[in-house]
Amino acid sequence: MNPALPPNIAALKPYTSARSLCKGSAWTFMDANESPVPGIELPSLPPLNRYPDPTADHLRDAIAETYSVSRENIVLGNGSDELIDLCIRAFVRQGREVVSVDPTYGVYGVCSAIQGVSYRAVTLTKDFLVDIPAFLKAGRDADVLFLCSPNNPTGLSIPKMHLARIVRELRGIVVVDEAYGEFADDAGIPSAIEMVKEGSENLVVLRTFSKAFGAAGIRLGYAVGARPLIDVLLRIKPPYNVNSMTQAVGLALWGKREEMRERVAELRRWKIPMVETCEELGCTVIPGIANFFLIQPPKGRNADDLLRRLRDEKRIVIRRINNTPILANALRITVGTQEQNRSFISTLSSLLSS
Ligand code: PMP
Repeated sequence: MNPALPPNIAALKPYTSARSLCKGSAWTFMDANESPVPGIELPSLPPLNRYPDPTADHLRDAIAETYSVSRENIVLGNGSDELIDLCIRAFVRQGREVVSVDPTYGVYGVCSAIQGVSYRAVTLTKDFLVDIPAFLKAGRDADVLFLCSPNNPTGLSIPKMHLARIVRELRGIVVVDEAYGEFADDAGIPSAIEMVKEGSENLVVLRTFSKAFGAAGIRLGYAVGARPLIDVLLRIKPPYNVNSMTQAVGLALWGKREEMRERVAELRRWKIPMVETCEELGCTVIPGIANFFLIQPPKGRNADDLLRRLRDEKRIVIRRINNTPILANALRITVGTQEQNRSFISTLSSLLSS
């Protein structure tokens, strides 16, 4: 018998990833903006018969010390995806809205749909910037606004002046998703965490161990925000959302930030010749500042076809970006190891010249 589902759940289009389809180890994954190498080997395991510290205070203290904020400004999540979900569940009242931009990270819309709240996305300008007047207008009645900086999939960060205006002029809670924030740090772009420290009361900034830290497998993200907002998130999160192994690995990784920063700089350097070659091959490239870039194949060449041939002929997995009014026929490529990058480039060259 089919259970009677709430209509928003029955109609849900879940977040999809090639990882559900391409299982096993025989793939070159350049689709999910992970690091091509692990950030750390496993440290020794903590005792597993006991529940973990529910609020992971050692790790929160380490993060707090780095940013010169207090433990009460930080909450951890089982990946930043959990924190996105918690923000919607904590701060969006029934019948109210979530507002973001398009194109951006799909999970904001999926979590809104699961929660049964409406999600509105304001199209970016043709230069891929937030259309500030349209965003301020659409966001007037929103309870939560998501801005991803650097944005996925464009890789561009939101100028501080724009962000400051949004945070100042809107009453809703602005969640700035800095999943690729360490790449912006390397590019000398200030984090929105600075605005939390300057006293913004309606701002939450998300970061993750999944990208620059090379630890997508441990599922760990953190939010930095004003104490009253973080307090609400701490109250509604599942009691033991970050397990003991993840807390231990997270703490060890936090002590290896210098290595992380070197890897970030290296990935950004490795991206440069990839971007140049794609341009020489006639692609339109949006390089961005993170560990991935967007391409639109030359006129007459189809992104779906290229994606399929890379996957089926070379087992290289990249990501198709949904067509939007300002971005059609686009593919997103994650910078891999030098060997993977060379293999991607030579395969793309031969596909485009055949
Ligand atoms: N935000 C953005 C913009 C992302 O691209 C991703 C990863 N796909 C996430 C959040 C989720 O990261 P996590 O692994 O920490 O859940």
